[in-house]
Amino acid sequence: PTFASMDLSDQMMAALEKAGYEYPTPIQAGLIPRALEGVDVVGQARTGTGKTASFVIPILELLDIERGAPTPQALILVPTRELAVQVRDEVVKLSEGLKINCAAVYGGKPIKSQVDKLKKGCHVVVGTPGRVLDHIARGTIDFTHIECVVLDEADRMLDIGFRPDIERILKRCPRERQTLLLSATVPPPIAKLAQRYMYEPEMLNF
Ligand code: AMP
Repeated sequence: PTFASMDLSDQMMAALEKAGYEYPTPIQAGLIPRALEGVDVVGQARTGTGKTASFVIPILELLDIERGAPTPQALILVPTRELAVQVRDEVVKLSEGLKINCAAVYGGKPIKSQVDKLKKGCHVVVGTPGRVLDHIARGTIDFTHIECVVLDEADRMLDIGFRPDIERILKRCPRERQTLLLSATVPPPIAKLAQRYMYEPEMLNF
């Protein structure tokens, strides 16, 4: 399969070329077409497989960019601040040429600058569960227009003890949404989370 066969926007094709992504990796070939159809997917994949772009590409393709003063349409939850920054950078790289705002919210940094950024409007929010919940409690994040939630490195998030935070966040998101879950392993707690918070998830193994 090729990116050209995925019916992506001209802007995305240009961004992929600029990034040097010539061919989709296996997870991208499997996940992107299904995610574009709106299906919930559990993707078993390790880091280094191109998993980040596998969810960033469909999120960017499905965004409604015209929406003014945007409230977030996509939420990406990650276990660490390092990963939050990496994922945000991938969003920025692949959205080149588009007027997309992406905020990274994570602990260990003053909350004020993140609040200011959120106030200006963001299409995509990437964050660690604890800090995202902080913003919910302060009323500085509006999740009423979220259309896609990604749980990245879900097994690591559960290992860290983020399960209750993740559940609280998911309960704040609209029920009518797409959910994508990425995890290196799918032990019973992950399967249970998927069963509870996803709609007939398709399992893809890479
Ligand atoms: P990830 O697994 O998302 O951490 O990605 C691992 C590395 O692969 C990153 O440096 C990406 O920039 C790179 N990458 C992702 N997709 C592709 C692709 N289709 N072709 C070449 N490199 C890629």
